[in-house]
Amino acid sequence: MIQNIPEIFGSMVFNDKVMKERLPKEAYKAVRRAIEDGTPLSHDSAKCVASVMKEWAIEKGATHFTHWFQPMTGITAEKHDSFIEPFGESEVIMKFSEKSLVKGESDASSFPSGGLRATFEARGYTAWDPTSYAFVKDGSLYIPTAFCSYGGEALDKKTPLLRSLEAFNTQALRILKLFGKTNVKKVTPTCGSEQEYFLIDKSVYEKRLDLIHCGRTLFGARPAKGQELEDHYYGAIKSRVSAFMKELDQELWKLGVYAKTKHNEVAPAQHELAPVFTSINIASDQNQLTMELMKSVANRHGLVCLLHEKPFASVNGSGKHDNWSISTDTNENLLDPGATPSENAQFLLFLVAVISAVDKHQDLLRISVASAGNDHRLGADEAPPAIISIYLGEELEGVLSAIESGSLYNAKKKSELKIGVSVLPPIPKDSTDRNRTSPFAFTGNKFEFRMVGSSTNIACPNFIINTIVADELKEFADRLENADNFNVELNKLIASSIKEHKRILFSGNNYSKEWQAEAKRRGLLNLKSTVDALPLYTQQKNVELFERHRVLSKNEIHSRMEILLENYANIINIEALTCIDIARKHIVPAIISYQAFLLNEINLKRQYSKDISSRLEQDVLNRLATLSDGFFEKLEKLTENIKKYQKIWDNLKKAKYSKNVLLKEMQELRNYADKMELLMGKEYIKFPTYEDILYSVKY
Ligand code: ADP
Ligand code: MG
Repeated sequence: MIQNIPEIFGSMVFNDKVMKERLPKEAYKAVRRAIEDGTPLSHDSAKCVASVMKEWAIEKGATHFTHWFQPMTGITAEKHDSFIEPFGESEVIMKFSEKSLVKGESDASSFPSGGLRATFEARGYTAWDPTSYAFVKDGSLYIPTAFCSYGGEALDKKTPLLRSLEAFNTQALRILKLFGKTNVKKVTPTCGSEQEYFLIDKSVYEKRLDLIHCGRTLFGARPAKGQELEDHYYGAIKSRVSAFMKELDQELWKLGVYAKTKHNEVAPAQHELAPVFTSINIASDQNQLTMELMKSVANRHGLVCLLHEKPFASVNGSGKHDNWSISTDTNENLLDPGATPSENAQFLLFLVAVISAVDKHQDLLRISVASAGNDHRLGADEAPPAIISIYLGEELEGVLSAIESGSLYNAKKKSELKIGVSVLPPIPKDSTDRNRTSPFAFTGNKFEFRMVGSSTNIACPNFIINTIVADELKEFADRLENADNFNVELNKLIASSIKEHKRILFSGNNYSKEWQAEAKRRGLLNLKSTVDALPLYTQQKNVELFERHRVLSKNEIHSRMEILLENYANIINIEALTCIDIARKHIVPAIISYQAFLLNEINLKRQYSKDISSRLEQDVLNRLATLSDGFFEKLEKLTENIKKYQKIWDNLKKAKYSKNVLLKEMQELRNYADKMELLMGKEYIKFPTYEDILYSVKY
């Protein structure tokens, strides 16, 4: 069904246009103030907004409302209340009070708090975030909210993001003021997140317990045809997938999500959706919505959308490119090299702030994308390695090294850099990114953080980028505000920052072995797994950083680390249990029956005539028997060791044990199973193979 796109776009969103049309002037202004500078709504304004919002929502078919929040589980949470209120003896009216809009109280005891919430105080609060518009979906009015404990401590992913935006705005404004830009009132980081995903047929999904429980396959030999031919990337979109994408676009547009680009990705059954960028808090909420809708729309098409970072071993996994830049309310992109020398000085300052921040806080960036799923992807020659580095492009690196050494910059176009910041050269704008292996690449007027996992809530990497850059800007502003000569100090600052942090710049192949060695020489961190990265969260420098900008308190950081470690361990524990289950219930019976079949064949041949060879059957049987011995041994070991896991209480120890023992043994068990799969008759294999799954959407 073709619909008028401009007409349906945002039609289910209580956005600025709707508010302007429907709210009384005073109430509208109050909401704008709440959005722009966080001024809380007065009782009367809130009452008015709630009532107008309810009327609008009912017109859109809503019967319920829900505070929509993002607890530390990684997925969004919602609890729906209907608008109905008893009226008289047998009637109801539709009611939505200002209290229901602004604040919700919910039992937080089943959400992870990492020790922040004492057991006797199970209450948690959801608080309306007016900077992200309410919307109607599936008959409910969704109100985006932050989620915190009774004491005001963050229990969710959104709160630190909102706090980081304030910190960022404060520091960026200080810098802009130094450049004479007093007309800028607000600076907001922007984000466009390219989302990768797999689509498979529901019928194969339902036969794979590992996909159902873990989102990834725990067994499965490589398919005969993988991604070697690269014929899937940007290939023609199959009609079922196309129908799915069309409906997804429509649903997203209705909710005001700027879904823009869609195409097939590298691996078979893999696709991507990229939105037009927007301010970071909205981009973050919209990415959560996008992921949810991908799943529900797929379901309507008899498909399943997999958002796991590595659903299939030996096949490319899915990531999410987090494109990050900085916008002002005067529509300036602060990471856009300007046309005039003084704009360039400002650009270089922001650029150098990002470079210094990334170098100083490699640990935090690695932590921001750390998860059990993403560990399978980082460093597997398909995604950036676990080492953080920045790619700037030749031209820009040339400009920076010239500034550092105080020499002239000879661009290919013969434009020269005269030192003295007011006469910096125009920086070539076409310095586009040709290095796809870099984890943090400058791509013309934004940075692209490519280590983010496909299922990650981008609030996390973004609150970390915002905070570390804000901190750098603070340091710069402290220095520049007190300088006798702004230009001289600025030049010194840029030069010294480059000198100090240039080790983080790398334009070569990040997938290569040489880079691992080189990075080590440079003293860069290489935190290979989540378990290596997470304990660094609570380092003194990080506690000080987050406290300095009021983004997270010491307690909140500690609780976050505990939650993430526990979550990691839980995931691997579930995987190990599922692995054992599949091994015993599906693989063992399959091996036994195939071996029985072979034995029977051999015996029959023997009885028939001594002269007939059964070399083939014997060979397969011998190989299977050897492998199944190994398989059995590993299965017993894993079963034994999972019992030990249940006796460990400390989260870090649990996580380490999961990685070093359980994950390793699961892999060993799988190696045997996958080898046996290749020897067995197709009809003996009890679940869909990689071939069946990856090519399950045929037309
Ligand atoms: P590629 O696949 O080459 O990385 P795409 O064009 O698919 O690039 O995606 C680029 C993404 O970057 C889009 O989501 C786009 O909206 C986003 N983007 C562009 N400009 C900015 C910006 N100033 N701030 C944040 N994101 C941006
Ligand atoms: Mg990209």
